[in-house]
Amino acid sequence: MSWKEKLQHKYALSEQGANDMIKAFLTATVSNIVLMFPVGLLYFLVEDYLNDNLSGRGVFYLVGSILCLVLIAVTTYIQYNCTFLATYVESGVRRITLAEKLRKIPLSFFGKKDLSDLTSTIMADCATIETASSHYIPELFGACVSTAMIAVSLFFFDWRMALAALWVLPVSFLIVLSARKFLRYLSRKQMKLKMVCTDGIQECLETVRDLWANDAQENYMAGLEKKIKAVEKHAVAAELGNAVFVSGAQMILKLGIATVALVGGILLSKGSIDLLTFFMFLLLVSRLYDPMQISLQNLAAIISVDVQCERLDEILSHSVQSGSTEMKYDGYDIAFSHVGFSYDSKESVLKDVTFTAKQGEVTALIGPSGGGKTTVSRLASRFWDIDKGTITVGGMDISKIDPETLMSLYSIVFQDVTLFNNTIMENIRIGRSDATDEEVIAAAKLAHCDEFADKLPEGWHTMIGENGSELSGGERQRISIARAFLKDAPIIFLDEATASLDVDNETLIQEALSRLIQDKTVMIIAHRMRTVSDADKIVVLKDGVVAEEGAPEELTAKDGVYRHMAKTQLQAAGWKL
Ligand code: ADP
Ligand code: MG
Repeated sequence: MSWKEKLQHKYALSEQGANDMIKAFLTATVSNIVLMFPVGLLYFLVEDYLNDNLSGRGVFYLVGSILCLVLIAVTTYIQYNCTFLATYVESGVRRITLAEKLRKIPLSFFGKKDLSDLTSTIMADCATIETASSHYIPELFGACVSTAMIAVSLFFFDWRMALAALWVLPVSFLIVLSARKFLRYLSRKQMKLKMVCTDGIQECLETVRDLWANDAQENYMAGLEKKIKAVEKHAVAAELGNAVFVSGAQMILKLGIATVALVGGILLSKGSIDLLTFFMFLLLVSRLYDPMQISLQNLAAIISVDVQCERLDEILSHSVQSGSTEMKYDGYDIAFSHVGFSYDSKESVLKDVTFTAKQGEVTALIGPSGGGKTTVSRLASRFWDIDKGTITVGGMDISKIDPETLMSLYSIVFQDVTLFNNTIMENIRIGRSDATDEEVIAAAKLAHCDEFADKLPEGWHTMIGENGSELSGGERQRISIARAFLKDAPIIFLDEATASLDVDNETLIQEALSRLIQDKTVMIIAHRMRTVSDADKIVVLKDGVVAEEGAPEELTAKDGVYRHMAKTQLQAAGWKL
């Protein structure tokens, strides 16, 4: 790996970003070198003055000074231009790369991560890395190059004085480098505490209604205050810890001036150097130490940024689901064969599940709550990959199908509907992004969305608030059903699709659904027996296995789980059996 590739990998830079960063390196170097020009000019000026040579060169020094000023202005402008390019162009690219990657990572990854954690990686961590890659690193590089040049010129003047001036540089850098484990620890801890705080604030905002309803705000706020105070306390401790090393190193740097004065004084008194050399050393040394003071702070910041780089790398190096985009299906039967799965590799949700949902039939999946019905639909759509067994669509193993291609085969009505802070029209159009307004409205009418949309102030174009906060459960579910109508895919999953609807609406939507599902592979997950009694086949899921399977009449005839569930529900509804 070349050093450019290493940079690209560590700071998640694109090719363009790495090039911009190199430009920032070069311009930082040039501007650091140009800043030295006035010192050289001053040297010749004093030398000419001492030799009484000044009168003939007045114009030279005047033009030289103006040129120096122009050069400094131009290089500083170019440096900032390159730095800003590296910052802003790259920041967008890096965030898009992350979002693209997150889109392809299996959902199991999100089970282990808080959403606020990921948001913070995309926004805050990226911003920190941006500052490091566009400012700290190029500036440190530029300062090191100019320091090396000054060091060479110091040796040119007098090697003893050069050693007196330069010994402090490696010592001060080593002090900061020796603290790298500690600096990373501080940065990591700060990040963790901040995350706990962000989670707390997010939770507080999300649950504000329940906190009010349960009169629990005060307790909750006290807990939150504690978390905020912990961040504050650690921030102070981290600053102090940082200051111990950086200020210590900066103090060592200051010692350099003292040793130059001491060694210079001795050499001057012995007549080994002249006054001009002594004067030049004092001037160069202050020029040398100023950027080095800032470089030590930059170095500490670059070390701390490693923590953010690790967090980014955790996402970027995560393996993605892949597969063939070629469709070689023979129909659209879905077959589960000896499937085993657990969310957290501890407790199996599905132990050994085998069944087939045939095309042209309605297969109903029933069973106790928490029995794994929703999990079956997630596994069939490859939101999670299974631990053992196989799942096939039209005879093709879904683990060999590209996730996006697979999803194009499904219309799913989720149990927990997610809506976007947009209009009703756009929320339904999610089903098929190229659908015309007329097609969207036709699908929406089939799902009886017009009943509530017509009453809203701006009809189909009414904004529905964050996650549809302005809609009822039944209305949300109808939007989700409208999406499925619009997508009109060959395989349909309805996960408790009509559970939030009242009986009248359920009957109307059942009729519409029966039109949608013709000739398709349909899996209905439901609680209400009424909803599944028309199914062609019933699969009863219990304790991680298929407890019963067959046509509703067959299962009713048996004295099994299905008959027991049907009996309990009818009795609860007031029927006597
Ligand atoms: P059902 O739809 O039959 O009510 P689910 O498939 O939703 O059941 O859940 C089956 C089991 O898996 C439950 O015990 C539930 O707590 C667990 N579970 C569901 N989703 C997750 C998840 N994202 N992470 C960990 N456990 C989960
Ligand atoms: Mg469920």
